[in-house]
Amino acid sequence: MWDGIIIGGGLAGLLAGIRASERGKHILIISEGVGSLTYSSGALDFGDAGQLLNQENHPYALLGETSIRAGMDYFQRLFPDYQGKWGVTQNLLTPLGSPRKASIVPYGQNAESLQDARRIVLMAPDGMKDFFPEIIKTNLERSYPQCVVEVYPFRVGAFESWHAIGKSVTGMEYAKYWQSGPGISELKRVLNCLTMIFDGEVSSKKNETAVLFPGIATAFSDPLKEILSETPFPVIEMTAFPPSASGHNLYCALKQKFKSLGGELLFGTGVQRIELQGKLCDKAIVKSKGRYTAFSARSFILATGGIFGGGIEVTPEAAQETVLGLPLYVPAELTNSEFLGEQPYAHMGIEVDSELRPTGPGNKEVLFENLRVIGRMLAHWDPWTDNCGGGVSLATGWFAGEKL
Ligand SMILES: Cc1cc2nc3c(=O)[nH]c(=O)nc-3n(C[C@H](O)[C@H](O)[C@H](O)COP(=O)(O)OP(=O)(O)OC[C@H]3O[C@@H](n4cnc5c(N)ncnc54)[C@H](O)[C@@H]3O)c2cc1C
Repeated sequence: MWDGIIIGGGLAGLLAGIRASERGKHILIISEGVGSLTYSSGALDFGDAGQLLNQENHPYALLGETSIRAGMDYFQRLFPDYQGKWGVTQNLLTPLGSPRKASIVPYGQNAESLQDARRIVLMAPDGMKDFFPEIIKTNLERSYPQCVVEVYPFRVGAFESWHAIGKSVTGMEYAKYWQSGPGISELKRVLNCLTMIFDGEVSSKKNETAVLFPGIATAFSDPLKEILSETPFPVIEMTAFPPSASGHNLYCALKQKFKSLGGELLFGTGVQRIELQGKLCDKAIVKSKGRYTAFSARSFILATGGIFGGGIEVTPEAAQETVLGLPLYVPAELTNSEFLGEQPYAHMGIEVDSELRPTGPGNKEVLFENLRVIGRMLAHWDPWTDNCGGGVSLATGWFAGEKL
């Protein structure tokens, strides 16, 4: 029997699994797919925690500041390549070159040094998909009016055959290449070329230059961090349109950490249902290769990612939690005609008590003593308008791993 089974291996489930395994628990994560991290920028937003802590029923209000801060600190201890401070946001660049703020930013994405730059050199790898240098240049000129923005096109030999047949190279593919042996040599060559060009310039210009490099993800790669730390100018990564190498690398790092602590991951198959014993969850039933298998555990965590992750199924008639059929909070009106306004359906999810155990509809009665619900499955928050998608998954994941 497992100490804990976690259903769903996204940010929330993996972090819960890591914390529980670190505490000596024997944990199985069962996950149907990879979760949303691979689609995200890789940066983690905590939103305006001071305000959200006072928002009735918000997951932050249930957990309290001490637990949210503990989750944030824990994450950074696990992954020092991710940097952030409670209550402080840092600048990073969107895929279109506009600055935005985030709470925890991966190594390389921090764009604070652009404030002091006088020239921005935008590297433009040939044939990169979803990369629009002219739009980025315009946005940079608007956001950093003190800077001259120059575009520096360059060609990577390794992708010549792709270009020849008109195939574009995604940011993920470029990022993978830069991490390979030939990619590291090529990157050194490209950056050396830039250094030589800048060396020939008057010193004020060269000292105030920052280089933007799309399609590279330095966090978790010591060779890349070393190369970039040796350049005489700051090199800043841009976030990418989904799928993103930074988000994917974080997902891989979480998985690797979980396994290194002895956790087991059953990937590519979903939990169909849970067998119950009174007010306790008893067995997770998984269907694989046409056969049903039951996995028993003392405790369970539901981290199935809401509508996007597959944990909530919505049809024109109804919305349903897919594993246990738990009662859902469903707002009376699902949508708001204002396209960019707050969308009520985002608040759909499972209501829980302060221990994150599911409660009955409209009352605080705990439904299952040994089940916790975390991440995007929780009710009463909106990752987009509250701007705290990563923060809620990280804080509730840490909390559940601590309690399991
Ligand atoms: C496009 C996009 C961009 C984003 N950008 C940002 C950002 O910049 N900053 C930020 O902070 N947040 C961002 N977010 C939000 C953030 O990534 C998510 O809120 C967070 O990752 C959700 O984590 P989760 O673990 O709750 O759910 P998920 O990551 O969705 O994981 C749920 C997991 O459960 C699995 N699952 C579902 N049903 C079952 C089942 N029956 N059995 C087994 N497994 C199952 C799924 O396959 C999945 O692996 C973004 C999200 C998206 C979609």
